[in-house]
Amino acid sequence: MSSITFTIIKPEILTRQLEGEVVGSIIKGGFKIIALKKTKFSEEQAKRFYAIHSERPFFQGLVKYITSGPVYVAVLEKENAVNDFRLLIGATNPEQAEKNTIRAKYGTNIEQNAIHGSDSDENAIIEGNFFFSHFERY
Ligand code: GDP
Repeated sequence: MSSITFTIIKPEILTRQLEGEVVGSIIKGGFKIIALKKTKFSEEQAKRFYAIHSERPFFQGLVKYITSGPVYVAVLEKENAVNDFRLLIGATNPEQAEKNTIRAKYGTNIEQNAIHGSDSDENAIIEGNFFFSHFERY
């Protein structure tokens, strides 16, 4: 049974005009895009989206970074979507990410790490609903 995950192609990828390569890697990885849009996080959205990290020392920097420019947000579909997507993007820190993962190839540092992927099926739905009022599977 296919399932969904949610992704953000983060600001520095759009600044560096690498969004085509990143979307290509997602498609080549076997994911179907079922919703996609360009948007820009407001400060309020950023604080709400990353609320789980609000006590962490990097929180202010993370909010500043994710609001720094436009992003792409997308809902993706595949069998085992959450786990397979985390394998495709690699570890949080691009320096530690496995070779050929999206973060290893396109990430800059532990904060500017190119891309987000949901960490559970439940969060994929919460995060998808954060940006899309509905999504349809074709
Ligand atoms: P993810 O699930 O791999 O994205 O990692 P987390 O949920 O732990 O962190 C969310 C985001 O916060 C990461 O993707 C990074 O952009 C940022 N981040 C995580 N850890 C650090 C850190 O130690 N320092 C900084 N500056 N940013 C971090």
